[in-house]
Amino acid sequence: MQEKGTISIHTENIFPIIKKFLYSDHEIFLRELVSNAVDATQKLKRLSSLGQVKGDIGDVRVEVAFDETKKTITISDNGIGMTADEIKKYINQIAFSGAEEFMEKFKEAKDANEIIGRFGLGFYSAFMVADRVDIESLSYQEGAEPAHWTCDGSTEFELSEGSLTERGTEITLHINKDNEEFLSKYKLQEILDKYCRFLPVPVIFGIKTEEEPDGEDEEGKPKFKSVEVPNIVNDTNPIWTKSPNDLKEEDYLDFYKQLYPFSEDPLFWIHLNVDYPFNLTGVLYFPKVKNDFDFQRNKIKLFSRQVFITDEVKDIVPEFLMLLHGVIDSPDIPLNVSRSFLQADSNVKKINSYITKKVADKLAELFKNDRPAYEEKWPDIGLFVKYGMVSEDKFYDKAKEFVLLTNTEKKNFTLEEYKEKVAPAQTDKDGRLVYIYTNDPQKQDAFIQSANKKGYDVLVMNSPIDNHFISSLEQKLEKTSLKRVDSDVADKLIKKDENPAHILTEEQSAQVKTIFDKAINKPAYKVELESLNPDELPVTVTMDEFMRRMKEMAAMGGGM
Ligand code: ADP
Ligand code: MG
Repeated sequence: MQEKGTISIHTENIFPIIKKFLYSDHEIFLRELVSNAVDATQKLKRLSSLGQVKGDIGDVRVEVAFDETKKTITISDNGIGMTADEIKKYINQIAFSGAEEFMEKFKEAKDANEIIGRFGLGFYSAFMVADRVDIESLSYQEGAEPAHWTCDGSTEFELSEGSLTERGTEITLHINKDNEEFLSKYKLQEILDKYCRFLPVPVIFGIKTEEEPDGEDEEGKPKFKSVEVPNIVNDTNPIWTKSPNDLKEEDYLDFYKQLYPFSEDPLFWIHLNVDYPFNLTGVLYFPKVKNDFDFQRNKIKLFSRQVFITDEVKDIVPEFLMLLHGVIDSPDIPLNVSRSFLQADSNVKKINSYITKKVADKLAELFKNDRPAYEEKWPDIGLFVKYGMVSEDKFYDKAKEFVLLTNTEKKNFTLEEYKEKVAPAQTDKDGRLVYIYTNDPQKQDAFIQSANKKGYDVLVMNSPIDNHFISSLEQKLEKTSLKRVDSDVADKLIKKDENPAHILTEEQSAQVKTIFDKAINKPAYKVELESLNPDELPVTVTMDEFMRRMKEMAAMGGGM
């Protein structure tokens, strides 16, 4: 049997375009070919479970190998295999059903990920790195003949009798000059670690040595010998595929360590598991963030049926949860599509609100079940919660029950508790509440002391998100404003008649004030007598809020 033919495609040669255009993501050829191999083994398992395969299929596996001298990379599997006709159908034709559309659209696409897959070009990504590809295949079907297909990256292919004697497919890439970097154990291992680490079928890459017990020596001590075993690169049952009931705390912590070996233990986690109206599994971890926002971003890994896709989950996970770590696996997230398409996708919208709700529920539960533990974690959790509250109304509505305000005495209050606490002393005559806060407890210590002394509480608002959080509280809380402890308004709220300086007569006060005014001799500063108690500040010298801002602006070089 020998057949030559032309890959059915109406446009002229597509390969130069694929090759030229997709240069940035060359490494995904391995993801595509290994996923195809995994698919082939899973199809076989399914057929077998339906009683459509004769005999025992044995253990299925995928193997990746390379040969530096021959300059080849081989991906083989013992899956369903293909007959010559199937190769014609699936490789020659089907892959190019979207080719014309591809030719029209490729100009708009920004990276290879947007194209591969979307146009059914998974197999053809091999031509990004190879100038010849061979397929050897033997179908599982009884009496099937082995087939061999070869193609040099033009639209010409050759189909002939194959040489495989066992069921499965072997794909050999003859790596081209520009991509010889892939002919390295280190490089291939790195790509396999990235994309194939949690594939559901064992993926073997070379061998490794292991120590195995080997009887006892003369003194009765256990002996070991080195044995060579297949190097399996993946964990076929990662925790997100298991039921939460079968998992212990350690399992979650171990998995976290596996994903982020250099991070501290996470605070807590959420196991996601839905199958209606969309399919999604995953584990999301709340890391210790320590305010280094940017460093922590983009740590969530997106999978589709255990194939790693990307760690760019923007638009799938709500913006404020981008700080979380962990994995999400969903076959219902459209892959390889443009950003705007993703945002408009109804599954993605549902997934987005599902995750938001799960996170809110988990926080509410932690708060309700063990408030002291929750408060202990608050410095880390607070950032997420506040970020969520400022960015999503739906989240605000849930989080208003468990967001905590912390005052300068390090006490935590819910919004409701805080309102009750300060209402008696911090309501003005129009019935408006004034919350006083500091964004720098050290620098503003004088103001804090002075406010405390007059019976006012001061909140600490010094996290990177607090400016936004304050504005959103002002919008959402009824008749409440938040004022910085050194602002004019906070100043005015302080009732002068409670001022201990009043034990001096007015005349005496005026005299003391004059001494200070003269000594400072700058009209922008304001002198106030505070206390005669030796433990407290006797006098505060402040700058008018307006003047302070002007100075700040001048210092920034802004001017007006
Ligand atoms: P997709 O995987 O999206 O269908 P591909 O271009 O990756 O597109 O593969 C095209 C088709 O070729 C597959 O659907 C499958 O039928 C067939 N195929 C590819 N690789 C294998 C393999 N290792 N074993 C069996 N069939 C395969
Ligand atoms: Mg594929």
